Amino acid sequence: MTTQVPDSGERTDVPILSHWIDGHPVEVLPEHTGPVHDPSTGAVIARVPRGGAAEVDAAVTAARRAFPGWRDTPLMARSQIFFAFRELVYRHREELAALITRDHGKTSPDALGEVMRGLETVEFACGLPVHLAGLNTPNVSTKVDAHTLRQPLGVAAGITPFNFPVMVPMWIYPIALACGNTFVWKPSSHTPGATQLQAELWKEAGLPDGVFNVVYGGREAVNAILEHPGIDAIQFVGSTPVGRHVFETGTRHGKRVGAYTAAKNAMIVLPDADMELAADSAVAAGYGSAGERCMAQTLVIAVGDAAERLLPLMEQRIGRLKIGPGMDPDVDMGPIYSAEHRASIIDWIDKGVAEGAELVHDGRPFHVAGHPDGYFLGVTLFDHVKPEMEIYREEIFGPVLGIVRATTFDEALSMINGHQYGNGTAIFTTDGGAARRFELEVDVPMIGINVPIPVPAGYLSFGGTRGSAFGDLKMRGEDGVRFFTQQKMVTVRWPEPGRREALSLVFPGNR
Ligand code: NAD
Repeated sequence: MTTQVPDSGERTDVPILSHWIDGHPVEVLPEHTGPVHDPSTGAVIARVPRGGAAEVDAAVTAARRAFPGWRDTPLMARSQIFFAFRELVYRHREELAALITRDHGKTSPDALGEVMRGLETVEFACGLPVHLAGLNTPNVSTKVDAHTLRQPLGVAAGITPFNFPVMVPMWIYPIALACGNTFVWKPSSHTPGATQLQAELWKEAGLPDGVFNVVYGGREAVNAILEHPGIDAIQFVGSTPVGRHVFETGTRHGKRVGAYTAAKNAMIVLPDADMELAADSAVAAGYGSAGERCMAQTLVIAVGDAAERLLPLMEQRIGRLKIGPGMDPDVDMGPIYSAEHRASIIDWIDKGVAEGAELVHDGRPFHVAGHPDGYFLGVTLFDHVKPEMEIYREEIFGPVLGIVRATTFDEALSMINGHQYGNGTAIFTTDGGAARRFELEVDVPMIGINVPIPVPAGYLSFGGTRGSAFGDLKMRGEDGVRFFTQQKMVTVRWPEPGRREALSLVFPGNR
């Protein structure tokens, strides 16, 4: 649908996105929409619905109606739909990637990488019947057997962030659906372009109407999800204050909630590290996707004299980085996703300078020729960042990297373990003993050894600790299956005629 919208900035004739409920797009009036910007030009390129309680209720009603049929669909029939969806996503991967780049600004290869890492979890879900299998124990007591079974919870919801509009939802909905739940997705309104295509591909793959629904919106839609009695479980990915609110409100309303939140990831570089590899890794993990990744490494903790050798190598690489529109094939880093976020990153750099960190490379005065209104920033490198500084403690979520100096490995390790966030971490060393100690003693669940962005493979679980996650289970993998199912434990006796035991009020023992 395209229409004239009076307050849409430079362009007034832009597409209006639709909710997706019960297998169909649901159009909205222009006055119930907000603008979507192209971050490389600042232009309004689409309008996204501002859904609320009514749209959430319509989606939940459709999902509840579809639940019994989907729950009872044989596992192999569900799997066939997943295989079909996998093929469709693969076939449309370039299209999905282009939509990500258009809304978010990340480079085309980076966006394609996102689609492929999302697809890994769809592929895991194709084989989910194996993971839904229960235990069967004959003879737990005399003539008594036991077995377990995993069943879906009902209607599940996913609330997702702007920075991975395909991969993060694909870490949630395949597991929820393959376990037999129906689903309501509330995507980010900043990067909604690839959303409807995902819904359309599910329909084309053969998913019954009502099993997968999409409601756009912000706080009102999220609060409606948290309070809706028809929703059983919620996985949230986003910032820590919103994640805490989602966890506390959702659990108060009796729902199972997992919230996967902010990060301030640090990589340790020991003096014996391959410094060329460490410099490549720090620059790639710090500035890739403009630092707008929850697995970005935004602190480099250099031990002993490592910083003296690492810093010049990092500066060489920074000098070669090309920044511009994400669609440009020569570009290494695209714009920041929004004008407001760009302004907040600049505030953080100002604060770092005021706190006394040494500004080695200043990304603030930066422009891309021909794109005067794009949300571009250069990359920033601070040295001598210290744990008492706010730029050490807080997530900036931009292309701002800080080098921290530590005297010993133990000091570096205790910095990571003492941080308010614990999502991902890495160590760069050629000493296997140090790497082994790091793996065992670091209090962060996702660890790279000479690997800077240790996002676990799609069949493994993903999630952090401390301020980076709320809830007991991680997303995806084995934990994802546990999260989206209820396990039942069944104890079975088949009476034999003529062999009934005498009535007894004694607590039954297993003998
Ligand atoms: P965000 O918290 O602003 O938004 C996340 C979702 O919550 C969106 O769908 C948004 O519409 C909704 N939302 C925003 N404000 C809300 C409010 N006041 N009340 C209710 N709902 C609200 O996060 P973002 O800016 O989209 O994403 C960036 C954040 O996500 C960063 O902190 C990043 O570290 C985190 N993130 C974490 C992971 C992880 O796995 N731990 C992965 C990706 C991103």
